[in-house]
Amino acid sequence: MAYDAIIVGAGYAGAVSARWLAEDGKTVLVLEKRNHIGGNAYDRMDENGVRRHVYGPHLFHTNSKQAVDFLSRFTDWYPFEHRVLGWIEGQTVPVPFNLTSIEKLFAPEKAEHLKQELIKAYGMECKVPILELRKNEDPEIKELAEYIFEHVFKYYTMKQWGYTAEEIDPAVTARVPVHISYDDRYFQDTYQIMPAEGYTALFEKMLAHENITVRTGVDALDHVCVDTEAKKILFDGEVFAGDLIWTGLVDSLLGYRFGALPYRSLEFDVRTEKAGFQPAVTVNYPTPAEIHPYTRISDYGMMMQTPPAGYTTAACEYPYAYDGNAEKGNVPYYPVFTEDSKAQYSRYARELAKIPNLHLLGRLAEYRYYNMDSMTERALEFCRGLKH
Ligand SMILES: Cc1cc2nc3c(=O)[nH]c(=O)nc-3n(C[C@H](O)[C@H](O)[C@H](O)COP(=O)(O)OP(=O)(O)OC[C@H]3O[C@@H](n4cnc5c(N)ncnc54)[C@H](O)[C@@H]3O)c2cc1C
Repeated sequence: MAYDAIIVGAGYAGAVSARWLAEDGKTVLVLEKRNHIGGNAYDRMDENGVRRHVYGPHLFHTNSKQAVDFLSRFTDWYPFEHRVLGWIEGQTVPVPFNLTSIEKLFAPEKAEHLKQELIKAYGMECKVPILELRKNEDPEIKELAEYIFEHVFKYYTMKQWGYTAEEIDPAVTARVPVHISYDDRYFQDTYQIMPAEGYTALFEKMLAHENITVRTGVDALDHVCVDTEAKKILFDGEVFAGDLIWTGLVDSLLGYRFGALPYRSLEFDVRTEKAGFQPAVTVNYPTPAEIHPYTRISDYGMMMQTPPAGYTTAACEYPYAYDGNAEKGNVPYYPVFTEDSKAQYSRYARELAKIPNLHLLGRLAEYRYYNMDSMTERALEFCRGLKH
């Protein structure tokens, strides 16, 4: 075997690692199951002249200068501040829920009073997870918290995750806290940017290195086999002594020995719409599934540096429980964190840790939610720590 490292998956975890190792003088083979690179960040221009994010809207936002500096070697950027509106009682109001949302939903006197109560309790510019806000003892704040919970979190969480907000890991609802502020941006990070030529172009440049060989349309499971008893990796039947960096499904590597880990999946209903058909880049529908069976609609044209004038491309998202063999919902997007799934993952991780040259990295292999920036940082940190 001529390669120092085999990397399975050409998303952020795989591509950042491949580049780092290649620049460190290692020869790297990247195997990607799909017929394209970029993982879930993959985008392409469509018939409307819109850069469509094929696996759902991807907004780059971070406080990590390190991640930006690394990725900036492969792309220019344009500034982009994401804004989301939520459909609440027939109106569209800012999400994360903030002081403007209160003004839009309540009569002026009541809105003023509620805002002052919140500011008194938490201070301006404070972000409060909804489950924490619901614990507030003040009857007025509690009533507001229940209102926000009902209209922003309860049904959205059930649609998105198939679990109630109380059943799912609190970190999930904490990702979109109530914001005691008038700042209506979805993110408050220092860097809010989009790659000038799109994510796929960024990946093409990142993987263009003489030490990197990329093979797309190749399922690594057809070539790689792990033997945890013998502590060995086999590649096409021969022992592979280099580093195998696995960014695919962790359970698949052991033939689902401890059961399939649960994921949430999505189906995208992609449509051509008139430009400006909705009032924000993304409109969330935190309503019961009987009213809106989907969670959100995003306008990809509005994410571009120069949005198209006539028609745009939009995607409406329908969540599903993941099933690799189903006609719909067969892409594993989000790990579903429950006590059971975390314990199940630990069994896989413990078993695979017996093989010293096997490394689990990324969203599917570590069974963790990573944003693009945190995945970039994690991959860089991982490569620096790799023993040679
Ligand atoms: C719907 C959605 C929206 C998102 N939005 C944002 C956002 O707005 N901002 C943000 O920062 N991040 C966002 N993310 C996160 C981002 O897409 C990446 O998931 C994250 O950066 C982790 O990258 P990764 O390389 O671990 O995983 P992935 O991007 O999933 O890459 C893994 C790759 O491994 C390949 N693979 C798997 N198994 C095999 C196999 N057996 N053989 C060969 N190849 C295999 C897969 O095909 C895939 O290409 C979003 C994710 C999703 C799902």
